[in-house]
Amino acid sequence: MSSIKCVGVLTSGGDAPGMNAAIRAVVRGSIYNNLRVIGIKKGYQGLINDEMEEMFSKSVSNIIQTGGTILKSARSMEFKTKEGRKKAYENLQKRGIDALVVIGGDGTFTGARIFGEEFNIPIVGIPGTIDNDLYGTDYTIGYDTALNTVVQAVDKIRDTATAHSRLFFIEVMGRDAGFLALRSGIASGAEAILVPEIKTDYSQLDRFLQNEYRKTKSSSIVLVAEGDEIGGAIKIAERVGRDHPEYDVRVTILGHIQRGGSPSAFDRVVASQLGVAAVSALLDGQRNIMVGLSDRKVVHTPFNQALKNKKSLNPQLLELTNILSI
Ligand code: ATP
Repeated sequence: MSSIKCVGVLTSGGDAPGMNAAIRAVVRGSIYNNLRVIGIKKGYQGLINDEMEEMFSKSVSNIIQTGGTILKSARSMEFKTKEGRKKAYENLQKRGIDALVVIGGDGTFTGARIFGEEFNIPIVGIPGTIDNDLYGTDYTIGYDTALNTVVQAVDKIRDTATAHSRLFFIEVMGRDAGFLALRSGIASGAEAILVPEIKTDYSQLDRFLQNEYRKTKSSSIVLVAEGDEIGGAIKIAERVGRDHPEYDVRVTILGHIQRGGSPSAFDRVVASQLGVAAVSALLDGQRNIMVGLSDRKVVHTPFNQALKNKKSLNPQLLELTNILSI
């Protein structure tokens, strides 16, 4: 029998579509298991400032389809200090919260690992980030929705690119990971995809522009992950503009549009599965782990492992771009 009676839930770091579906699943999964559940506002900062309130089944009605996070998110510098975390712990005790579910990315899990070990609190993490850059899960919440947002945007840009025979560089989010760029590039028929994981891709692009583009293309779309080592779409477009003055080059940075919007059905289901799985993991005595999906099954990965290992891009998808852009 678990000694846990009350679970706190928060969203932290960059927001992602589907976080609300995850909150809903944590709240209802807790109530289903006769636990009280407290919603903590603005991530770790709300824990420090004691901004929290009890949640009920009705508190999460009508949110599965909404983007953003009803609990709000924040980046808390204070939580990175020992004094800040001590305040957070005192508030947990005052509220009778004896376990936490944190929804966020690697920064959120770094904070959770430190806090959980420092004060001996069971914490389970749910991967919520559009970047899909977390080891220990095939999908993070928000990735699929962001993917669809990028593809819709690129389709629209393609229309105008073709009308003017232009070469577009489109920058997508992903920090230092190319998952979003790679998958959305394949889905939108991009002629080239530049990701931080591949250091030699500029020379490939250069060859493509010298040869294939001139012969066969009425427009070209190059997707650039924001963390690409050359320095994002603007820098790459400048370099291509210098190397190939014959092309009419344009840049679009998709920006925060990628974080918003109603979550896709896929993200809602992943969030629902992982939210309930996080509560079950706590009740099973798990702590300091992230719940994730591997081959459609729920898996547990210790925070240490999730943070230490780097998830790699699928080499078969990388190869696809070269084949399909001829
Ligand atoms: P995203 O991937 O979308 O950016 P994230 O969870 O990685 O999400 P961060 O801003 O990196 O976002 O981290 C969220 C919060 O986690 C930070 O604002 C901070 O409060 C906490 N955090 C991050 N690193 C640490 C750390 N070393 N010690 C304590 N807390 C930390």
